[in-house]
Amino acid sequence: MNYSIGIDLGGTDIKAGLLCEDGSLSCRMVVSTQVDEGAKPIATRIAETARKIINTVESDSEKNKKIIGIGIGAPGLIIANSGIIHFSPNFPGWTDIPLLDYVSTELDDIDLPLYIDNDVNVMILGELHHGAGIGYENVIALTLGTGVGGGVVINRQVYHGSWNTAGELGHTIVQPNGRKCGCGNFGCLEAYAGAKGIIERTQQRIAEDMKTSLNPDSLTPKQIANAANDGDELAVQIYSETGRYIGIALTSIAHILNPQIAIIGGGIAAAGESLLFQHIRREFKQRTMDIPSNMEIVPAKLGNQAGLVGAAMLAY
Ligand SMILES: [Zn+2]
Repeated sequence: MNYSIGIDLGGTDIKAGLLCEDGSLSCRMVVSTQVDEGAKPIATRIAETARKIINTVESDSEKNKKIIGIGIGAPGLIIANSGIIHFSPNFPGWTDIPLLDYVSTELDDIDLPLYIDNDVNVMILGELHHGAGIGYENVIALTLGTGVGGGVVINRQVYHGSWNTAGELGHTIVQPNGRKCGCGNFGCLEAYAGAKGIIERTQQRIAEDMKTSLNPDSLTPKQIANAANDGDELAVQIYSETGRYIGIALTSIAHILNPQIAIIGGGIAAAGESLLFQHIRREFKQRTMDIPSNMEIVPAKLGNQAGLVGAAMLAY
């Protein structure tokens, strides 16, 4: 059997695991990233973690295990083919860091190819091969978290664009002159369907005297979803609006790309069918032309494993 090593590099933790070609994960480990130490010590920790997994596989009595490569998923703008992190919001001060070179120097005694890509591209790759995207050719993905990430797959290949910035679906404009986005523009999907947008829209409505069980000073998207499930009218409205904004964004994307399926993941997507997905689909169907409206809209399947599975899939 073939195996590959997946590394999910985050601002807090480095997660690692061994992916079998059948999609099963084993040898999972987590070490602290320690961002403030800088890129080279982080590359050393990544290499040490990979080496531990390689040693575990080599000492395994079952000798037909073959590791074919190591893949790393990381947040930010990644120049995938040269292994460079151009910019990452999770790693302050990093500009054009040749992370793959650093890791490969640490592992120069081990003859395995190394790969890196953006965490959302990696998530979509995981879903494409072992999750909600199995059997589809043209796929888009959204991750609803602190920000709203996006990815595009065309003919089963992640599309990177001319300068590696394709797939920024979270910055689709859903409201001209709308809320300010972290990117500097106004009215992006992220400014409505990201955690900050959801919380601030709720606070604004509470300030307008809308009745609610929610405390405006300590809000999270999950609390708002819980309140909505308990029947809180404001919370229900906030999620149905969030769904509408996502449906509006998906309308533009479906008209441009005509994908077969949109996979939606991230913590906020856990609000589920009745709070979120039915509103996304209704808005999308109402606005989209006949043929592109065939696109299916489904939740991601791999949950928080998608980063590891997808990173390991870079090696295939
Ligand atoms: Zn934006």
